[in-house]
Formats: sequence, C-alpha cells, structure tokens
Amino acid sequence: AKKQGKNRFYWFEPPMENELRFRNELEAGIRRGIALGEFRPYYEQQIDLETSQLTGFEMLARWESPEMGMVGPDIFIPIAEEIGVIGDMSERLIAQAFEDAKQWDPNLTLSVNISPVQMRDPWFAQKLLKLLVKHNFPAHRLDIEITESCLHENIGMVRSMITSLRNQGVHVSLDDFGTGYSSLSQLRSLPFDRLKIDRSFISELKEDEHNGKLVDAIISMGDGLKLPITAEGVENEKVLDALRRMGKLKGQGYHYGRPEPADQVLARLERQDLL
Ligand code: C2E
Ligand code: CA
Ligand code: CA
Ligand code: CA
Repeated sequence: AKKQGKNRFYWFEPPMENELRFRNELEAGIRRGIALGEFRPYYEQQIDLETSQLTGFEMLARWESPEMGMVGPDIFIPIAEEIGVIGDMSERLIAQAFEDAKQWDPNLTLSVNISPVQMRDPWFAQKLLKLLVKHNFPAHRLDIEITESCLHENIGMVRSMITSLRNQGVHVSLDDFGTGYSSLSQLRSLPFDRLKIDRSFISELKEDEHNGKLVDAIISMGDGLKLPITAEGVENEKVLDALRRMGKLKGQGYHYGRPEPADQVLARLERQDLL
C-alpha cells in the first residue's frame, strides 16, 4: 500500500505541499513585515460632489513586500485577521496615518477601515481613544468605517463601542452598505454618522445613468434616516453626473485618482494650497 501510495504522493502531494509552504511563507512575511514597517498607508481622496471640494482622505493599507512587491489588502487583511495580528497591524497603520494627517489642513478628515475582528476586542474603543491622545490627533477629524458584518457580532457591545467613540467626537460610518444583511431597524437603532454605498451599486450607473434605481432607493432611505451618504467607486464623469442629480453626496473613486502614499498627498495638497 505504501508503494502504491508513493505514486499518488508524487502526483497529488507536491502542489498541496507548495500551497502550504506558500501560505506559511506569507504568514511569516506578514509578521516580519509588521515588525519592519512594510505596511504603509495610502490615501484616497474624498470629495463633496456638490462643490467638488476635497473633504478628506480614506486610508487604504498597502504591503510593500521586498519579495512580492506591492500587495493589496484583499490578500493580507484576511490572513492578518486569521493569525491574530490585525489589531497590531491596524494600530501601527493608524498611528502613521495620524502623523501624516497632522500635516494636512485641519479641516480635512481621515477615514480608516476597522475589521470586524478588531470590533470583537472589548478594549477596542479605549485603545483607539488612547492612540488619538498619544498622537495628539483631534477625535473629530477621525472617521472609522465599519462593515455590516460587525453587526452580526455582539450588537450590544458594538452599540456601546460606537457610542463611547462618538461621545469623544469620533465619526462612525457604515461601509460597503448594501452588500451585507443589516436590517433597517438595526440601521435606525445604531448611531451611525454616515452610510457608504458599495462600489458594486455605483457601477450600475456606468452603463446607463437612468439605471440607478437601487442607488436612488438607498439615497432616499439615507435621507429618511437623516444619514449623509458617500458613494464609493466614482470612476468617470457619467457616474458623477448621475450621482449629482440624485442628491447631496460625497464621493470617491478613480475619477479623482488612485490611492497615493503620504508624500504624494502632501505634494497634491501643496498644489491645491490645502496643507
Ligand atoms: P473598501 O473600504 O471598500 O475600499 C475601497 C476599495 O476600492 C479600495 O481597494 C480602493 O482602492 C478601491 N477603489 C476606490 N475607487 C475605485 C474605483 O473607482 N474603481 C474601482 N474599481 N475600485 C476603486 P483596496 O485599497 O484594494 O482595499 C480593499 C479593501 O480592503 C477595502 O475596501 C477595505 O475593506 C480593506 N482595507 C483596506 N485597508 C484596510 C485597513 O487598514 N484595515 C482593514 N481592516 N481593512 C482595510
Ligand atoms: Ca472603506
Ligand atoms: Ca466597498
Ligand atoms: Ca470595505
């Protein structure tokens, strides 16, 4: 049986072994990368669509890996969550983002994404408030983006976290709205400051600007709940025009540029006189 098995071994084991080795290397690389500061904040512009004014930036994490080059968050965030290092990684990125944002015009906001795994930590709010104090960053300039998947967790704990952060002036947005399962009653019962419509809904405006029924419905619902709205994934003028007709929104997306590292953001702000 062993000899037979050896044949199969040859054909079936090597790919699995490679996968496992790759995964182990990726995990080790992520741990090492955190220690070495290879995870860096990039920034995407957020715009008031009515006035075309820049209102702030969303921080999006990038891994500048010496072995693999630039790695996106869709690859490393799920692994960082799984191996229990997301809190550490995120704290370092946010600390760096506070230092970067302190160099901008003080009217510009900073949005950061928070993983549902971080929201499970009962000390999350305290840790974030401590970080604000340590870096002397004004709470009212910070906007945390949490996704609907946080709402499946302990809803009571999530509510009290949001409340204690908002009491200190931090803003809280519901990210990727429409892609999860949050109910309208949950939406009404949680004190969010803003809804972010997921890019997948905005892209339906690309083909035909009259085809935005879902987007229209989400915007009316936001109006009903008195929640301001941001549209993600504004990729072109056509989408922008359609959104402008639908309401008073903020927007972000490739139409305004790709996410940039801090030095390029500073150069941009200098040109626009917004340092
Ligand atoms: P998200 O929060 O929905 O962020 C928007 C994503 O869409 C970003 O991808 C952004 O680069 C991309 N994007 C922006 N405008 C456009 C557009 O016009 N067209 C298209 N096709 N894409 C656009 P990115 O940077 O790869 O981030 C992916 C996700 O990773 C984010 O989705 C966010 O959920 C997560 N993420 C990023 N940074 C962090 C972080 O520091 N912590 C946590 N927990 N999650 C993060
Ligand atoms: Ca986001
Ligand atoms: Ca999204
Ligand atoms: Ca998201």
